[in-house]
Amino acid sequence: MQKITLVFATNNAHKAREIEQILGPAYTVKTLKDIGCAVDIPETEDTLEGNALIKARYVKDNYGFDCFSEDTGLEVDALDGAPGVITARYAGDQKDPEDNMDLLLENLKNKSNRKAQFRTVIALIQDGKETLFEGICRGEIAAQQRGTQGFGYDPIFIPDGYKHTFAELGDSEKHQISHRAHATRLLVEYLQGLQ
Ligand code: IMP
Repeated sequence: MQKITLVFATNNAHKAREIEQILGPAYTVKTLKDIGCAVDIPETEDTLEGNALIKARYVKDNYGFDCFSEDTGLEVDALDGAPGVITARYAGDQKDPEDNMDLLLENLKNKSNRKAQFRTVIALIQDGKETLFEGICRGEIAAQQRGTQGFGYDPIFIPDGYKHTFAELGDSEKHQISHRAHATRLLVEYLQGLQ
């Protein structure tokens, strides 16, 4: 089988592995490291869509590859969609997952509504055309951290229809239902439609 290579504008090995698993064996995913890009591309826009496009355009403009990038935010209903676009640095520029989760749990301490969603936006630049794909996973924020798998806010996010957090469910279950899985499936359908 002829494998299709896509550049994924990320340095996050977790995300690259997740997307490669979701894409399946027909695809090889190259990361920024694989193409020799050591830059931490600044995410200066105030939307997930804007930041996803920044990263894809950076790779296209500087390295010439068609590529895709993604940006993900955790949007909490009772906090009017916060942390949203600042999900990674919610508790500060150190981007520490423990600090971020602690702050979120603190800010939800007196809230009865703990509904939230992860939202992923993928930006694809292919043959000079920019296309956006969105994936959403609804759920709620747990009272405390549970589980050890996954990354980021996984220990405090319980997807709708489940009793366990993403960090308890583990990768194979998460990759069936996650925000990133939904957005990636749309990307794959689009790419297959081009063939
Ligand atoms: P970014 O898209 O890499 O900027 O990630 C934004 C923030 O969301 C970071 O704090 C990530 O750790 C977190 N994040 C992104 N995807 C997930 C996920 O699937 N589970 C838990 N946290 C995530």
